Order: sequence, then structure tokens, then C-alpha cells
Amino acid sequence: MSRFTLPRDIYHGKGCLAELKNLKGKKAFLVVGGGSMKRQGFLDKAVNYLKEGGMEVEVFEGVEPDPSVETVMKGAEAMRAFQPDWIVSMGGGSPIDAAKAMWAFYEYPDTTFEDLCIPFNFPELRQKAKFAAIPSTSGTATEVTAFSVITNYQTGVKYPLADFNITPDVAIVDPDLVAGLPAKQVAYTGMDALTHAIEAYVSTLHGPFTNPLALQAIEMVFDYLPASYNGNMDAREQMHYAQCLAGMAFSNALLGIVHSMAHKTGAAFSTGHIPHGCANAIYLPYVIQYNAHVPTAMRDYAEIARRMGLPGTSEQALVNSLCEKINDFNRRLNIPKTLKEFGIDEEEFKSKLPKIAELAVGDACTGSNPRPITPAEMEKLLTCTYYGTEVDF
Ligand code: FE
Repeated sequence: MSRFTLPRDIYHGKGCLAELKNLKGKKAFLVVGGGSMKRQGFLDKAVNYLKEGGMEVEVFEGVEPDPSVETVMKGAEAMRAFQPDWIVSMGGGSPIDAAKAMWAFYEYPDTTFEDLCIPFNFPELRQKAKFAAIPSTSGTATEVTAFSVITNYQTGVKYPLADFNITPDVAIVDPDLVAGLPAKQVAYTGMDALTHAIEAYVSTLHGPFTNPLALQAIEMVFDYLPASYNGNMDAREQMHYAQCLAGMAFSNALLGIVHSMAHKTGAAFSTGHIPHGCANAIYLPYVIQYNAHVPTAMRDYAEIARRMGLPGTSEQALVNSLCEKINDFNRRLNIPKTLKEFGIDEEEFKSKLPKIAELAVGDACTGSNPRPITPAEMEKLLTCTYYGTEVDF
């Protein structure tokens, strides 16, 4: 048995933020991040639309990037005091992820993060409130997914939460909110979306319900990402939809080891954080080479290339074309080809490699990768991404 879950309503189009006034309820608890939505006037707009629809509104501001357990608990407590029947979250991934966890603790104050961390183990939500999500970046697609990541800063542990209960009821995908994104963020989040779609298309759980979404997302990223990066707002709009389609695919088909590697290397080095989408963009072609040693994955990557009209007749030639297309995108988006080029110190990389490899193999995304991987193989694969060498194992 497989399950395929999406929000009941996905509003999309310029200005669709106004749909907030049609939510039916009494009290809306609005969760936002650090201030960009406020500065650009979208927070005021959202509050006014909700009030126009007859709702009382409380705003919870200041959710940090990589939201903390404390923020979640503070938000849940404020929800319990206010008793909303709608939770509305607006911003990059973080405020939406935080609001999803607040929702669980609002409805079930006695639950624990340890309970929620067991995949697909959430208590039945929607006893008190429904959930609407409004993304202001074009990458994570948390507005349509069953996932949230919360960080415990005391222990350094990230809690990846996964359950269809936290798939939002309503997603509002308004391209006006991403018009002001910096080019670098357009590049990184766009490559994150491409990675979501490609990993979802080859995952062990992919199938007839997720494949069309993944393929459509890949096609749109190939068509629109460079123009969006160069400031074309029509392309920016299409990228906002493409990342959402990719999210609909990977929320149901899950991901693979590109994400395992990005999760465990993102904050591992003293030279600085590797942004999530940038890490994915670097690792993706290497992982395709690694996975393509398995015939089913080879066939699926070749099918992507064939559907996208990339050159080649043999499966191997098509897979090579797909990797070349991704390398070409990375060059055009000014994304480095290796971790070395990104600026990771060689000695630090070598000394931390065994631990990182072990952690990456244990990541939640490894289980749905089409080819299994051992810690020793993961060390070799990460080493290829450091020096830019061929993956021949
Ligand atoms: Fe991602």
C-alpha cells in the first residue's frame, strides 16, 4: 500500500495571497520569520486579508533560520493562550517548519520531540486548528510537504519530523512574494528544487502518482531557472510553481543520498556553512554517477534525459547528458564544482570524513535512495565531490 497526500487546496498566481480572506474561521495565529515579509509589506497585507474575512489575528514574529525547540515551545504556548482555529505560516522554510511543530504541541501539549521524531507517528491533528502555508522562497516546498526540521541547540541535534498530518491544508503560492529574492538564493533554492525532483523520480518509493510531478518540475527548472537567476520575473513565477510541484513529488516519494550528504556536511566545517541548495547542486552529478551503476536507476535517469530532449541513444549516453546539463547549470549559476573549490580546507575535510560519511549513511534520506551505500563507499563518494574525480565504483 502506498499513500499520496497533498494539501486540499493549492492557490497559485500573482496576488493569490488575497485568498486568505476566504479562509473560514474565527481566529488565525500567523507565524512569520525575521522581518523580510514585514519590510516588504506582505505581513500587513496578510493580517488585513484575514481580518477582512472576519478573523481575529495574533502575529508570532521572529522565527529564526533553523528554528529552535524553544521557539516551537514558545509558539505553542502562545497558541494555547489564543486558541486559534487556523494556523497561518508565511516565510522561507523556517517559520512554516516551526509552525508545523507548534501545531502538534498546541493540540498535544504532553507530546515530546522524541515521539514526533519517529517517522509517521504523529497524533491525529486538526482537532483544534487547520493549517495554511505561504512560501516566500522557491525551494523547500514545505508548504506542500509532510516534513519539518527543528534544531535543539543545546545538543546540536536536528529533529527531522515526517508525517502526513503536517501536510498543510492550504498552500498559497504567490509569486509576488519571491520577486525580491537575491540572485544567489534564486540559484541555490532552484537547484534544491531540481534535486528534489530528480531524487523523487529515482527513489525507491516513486511511482505513477509522483513521476509526472517530478518530470514537470524538472522540465520547468530547465526552462526557467537561468532566466529567473538573471532577473526575469515571468521565469521567477514559473520557478515558484516548479519548486512546489517538486515538493508534491518528494513529499510522497521521498529523497535520496544527495540530501543525506547535504544534511551532514552543511554545518560540518569551520570555514563556514554550505547553503543547502548549493551543497545539493555540487553533489547531484556525482550521486547520479554512483546510483547509475544500478540498472533501475540508470533506466530512470535515462528516462529523465530522454523526456527532457537531451542528446544520446544508449542509457549511459543519456545519463551523461543529464550530468552535463546539471554541470552546465552550475557553471551558469556560479556554483562551484567541488567542495575544494567551495573553500573547504583539505586537512579538515580529511580528518572529519569518516564521521561525516557515517552520519550521512544514517540520514533519514538514505533509505529511499535507489542504490544502497556503506560508510566506506560514502567516504569514497564524498572524496570524489571534494576533488572532482570520476565516480567509478
Ligand atoms: Fe532540499
